[in-house]
Amino acid sequence: MKTRIKELRDEIDRINRELLALLSERGEIAREIGRLQTELGLSHYDPVREAEMLDYLTRENPGPFPAETIKHLFKEIFKASLTLEEAEDQKTFLYSKKAHPEPTIVEAGPARFGAEKLIIAGPCSIESSAQMEETAAFLAQKGVKVLRGGAFKPRTSPYAFQGLGVEGLKIGRAAADRHGMAFITEVMDTRDVEVVAEYADILQIGARNMQNFALLKEVGRAKKPVLLKRGMSATIEEWFYAAEYILAQGNDQVILAERGIRTFEKWTRNTLDLSGAVLAKQETHLPVVVDVTHAAGRTDLLAPLARAALAAGVDAVHVEVHPNPLVALSDNRQQLDFAGFERFFEAIHDLLG
Ligand code: PEP
Ligand code: MN
Repeated sequence: MKTRIKELRDEIDRINRELLALLSERGEIAREIGRLQTELGLSHYDPVREAEMLDYLTRENPGPFPAETIKHLFKEIFKASLTLEEAEDQKTFLYSKKAHPEPTIVEAGPARFGAEKLIIAGPCSIESSAQMEETAAFLAQKGVKVLRGGAFKPRTSPYAFQGLGVEGLKIGRAAADRHGMAFITEVMDTRDVEVVAEYADILQIGARNMQNFALLKEVGRAKKPVLLKRGMSATIEEWFYAAEYILAQGNDQVILAERGIRTFEKWTRNTLDLSGAVLAKQETHLPVVVDVTHAAGRTDLLAPLARAALAAGVDAVHVEVHPNPLVALSDNRQQLDFAGFERFFEAIHDLLG
């Protein structure tokens, strides 16, 4: 009796192996179907075809399993096959750590984003040669390696100061060069990418242009580092997809910048989304910057927010500094004067390493 059971169990083992081989064969075919459907842009789930297969199988079922059981078992197989077919749609994004496990280091002048903790600082707008010279001299002596300043300004009102344009680019470049700094400035229009790339070390894409896909493609073609600000109402996924537009053009020098998102809160200009910045570090291989100035919109929060960001692992903080913020032509309530920057620097420098 016992030997008979043993014989039968051996039979079951053989059938299990055969079933497994058949399931694997079926899985490979499903996967191939998935690839073809993806190529043709067809949907993977076909309920009519599934119903036909179930009808056929229950009709042909010789027993002893009841029709319901056969249906149930095959439905599980169909579900698993669909998962395989759908897996063919899942691309590995270039921004993802899966595509590039090592952290990307973006070099701009003396700065190495991703390899050292950095401060990006400078005025909101470039207003004059004297203003940029004074600011660059002060910041360079504090060890700041990246000088910012807007020449093309995205202003909410069309009547507000729009920036000095190419003249501003020249002023910013010269000030940065005199003090051995990298120069970052915003580009807002595809037609300006060439001239901005001529003067700047890093092209900034502002929050308002995060989904300007033509601009993203254009800076993707420029062989220059790009700092991509998160849109004020953009989800983290939309922000990463925007980075993908640049990376997909063959430009791998992308820096992500969280600058606060719009919420119902009124006591701060925006709400710093620290989880967004941390997720950017976790999910992507790109350097991450936190712009505390535009996030908070008030000077008393800059140091604590910068400390939090650096402690959370971001690569750089961005802060606006102006020799005389009260007379600044833009963002005059949120920029630090030199004494304010000294205090800011003292409060965070232990985290700069
Ligand atoms: C800026 O950095 O000057 C600026 C306009 O920032 P944002 O695009 O984040 O508003
Ligand atoms: Mn500003």
